[in-house]
Amino acid sequence: EVRVRFAPSPTGPLHIGGVRTALYNYLLARKLGGKMLLRIEDTDQNRFVPGAEEYILEALAWCGIQIDEGVGVGGPHAPYKQSERKPMYKQYADQLIADGYAYYAFDSAEELDAMRARLQAAKVPNPQYNSITRAQMRNSLTLPEDEVKQLLDSGAPYVIRLKVPRKEEVRFQDLIRGWVVVHSSAIDDKVLMKSDGMPTYHLANIVDDHLMEISHVIRGEEWLPSAPLHVLLYRYLGWEKTMPQFAHLPLLLKPDGTGKLSKRDGDRLGFPVFPLEWHGIDGDTGEPTVSRGYREDGYLPEALVNFLAFLGWNPGTQQEIFSMDELIQAFSIERVSKSPAKFDQNKVKWFNEHYLRAKSNAELAPYLLTALQEHGIDCSPEKAEQIVGVMKERVSFPQDFWQEAKYFFQAPTEYDEAVVSKKWNAQVATALTAYADGLPANSEPSANAEVLKSIFNQTVEAQGMKPGQVLQALRVAVTGAAAGPDLFETLAILGSGEVAERLRKAVA
Ligand code: GLU
Repeated sequence: EVRVRFAPSPTGPLHIGGVRTALYNYLLARKLGGKMLLRIEDTDQNRFVPGAEEYILEALAWCGIQIDEGVGVGGPHAPYKQSERKPMYKQYADQLIADGYAYYAFDSAEELDAMRARLQAAKVPNPQYNSITRAQMRNSLTLPEDEVKQLLDSGAPYVIRLKVPRKEEVRFQDLIRGWVVVHSSAIDDKVLMKSDGMPTYHLANIVDDHLMEISHVIRGEEWLPSAPLHVLLYRYLGWEKTMPQFAHLPLLLKPDGTGKLSKRDGDRLGFPVFPLEWHGIDGDTGEPTVSRGYREDGYLPEALVNFLAFLGWNPGTQQEIFSMDELIQAFSIERVSKSPAKFDQNKVKWFNEHYLRAKSNAELAPYLLTALQEHGIDCSPEKAEQIVGVMKERVSFPQDFWQEAKYFFQAPTEYDEAVVSKKWNAQVATALTAYADGLPANSEPSANAEVLKSIFNQTVEAQGMKPGQVLQALRVAVTGAAAGPDLFETLAILGSGEVAERLRKAVA
């Protein structure tokens, strides 16, 4: 059975890179008829951020990523939050010690610092606690047995470390990268159990993936360096046969390709990097901060999902627009690329425009009605539907409707300068006055766009002019703006009485 998990740590809001990881897991689970789990990895209490877990749940729900088992839904392997599973991990650390694959280490923080300083002074490129340095440290592999027992009995603080072999090639097959081979000398004797009895990420992650019967571990490339260590843990715990398959997703780069897209980049580069707005405390300054979110910026979840799906995957065809169901059908790990994906803010906007315009006028009208209400303007749902109908090809975000459609509710007080200076003259003003005079009174029915247009053409021609000479002036006189949706549709929505009034005011 295919069982995948998304396993975020609640150390802050969920980055869009994390959303992509969750999405790929979800797509694979759905595609193969498996289960999608959500596990919260909160063993590092120092990095715990209040509100982060709620944020993660809300963000996944907003994106339409459904959890089958885990935090928020429960399931046969509950609890799914690691801090609530704390008592379950110790036995595995003990087992590793008993089997000679792990050891107690009693080094103090000062001793560890001194060791690192020594290595740095000796210009060792990547100072580690490994088979070489461990020989000089205070641990159960270097101390006599009775001393170890004494230390443990006296309650001396200790951690449990993995005993990484000195000369061994650790290899595994990554579904995206192929064979990955790492020499054990490059792997740290990682801490598995901390002095407070909490497991570290590495131990808890492997134990939980095993107990929860995870079949595929799909996660970001930043976890690739940890994978060989995880392979060793599976082996030493005797779980190698059921070890999950690994798939490490490509990095997400900044739009200019200069490096990894980080949590701090978004607001700075002018686009959000979080799905939802985040209100939190800045880790460095302690000041409250707000980070933009796609939802609050006016993106539709379908657009963000479609966009994220393409950051590292493609269907191998020209098709770009995919609903969640279509993504599920088309998705495969084989088509996930190993080269980094560059974030493209124009592309996510393009997707948004697509999904916004695909909505019916009735679905879009509430966006405009809400803004109108905020501005104390009355409008019938029918009229709002007409307006969003003519406007939707011109907006990228729902909140643009109000900005772009203001002139339907407020006569212009300013007129586009460029049009006025180029297109406005006495003859044009006369034609516009004639048009105002020729328009049917507002109460008259059937003054639709066609009718308004033919009256305009007749009026202008009777003045010895061509429609093209007056059209732009007409638009500016009525709306104030140089560009907009179909002009006569606009006039029809405004109503001929209002149009005549605005023309007279503009001419005056
Ligand atoms: N807790 C890790 C994270 O925050 C999970 C990594 C993994 O999927 O193994 O990304």
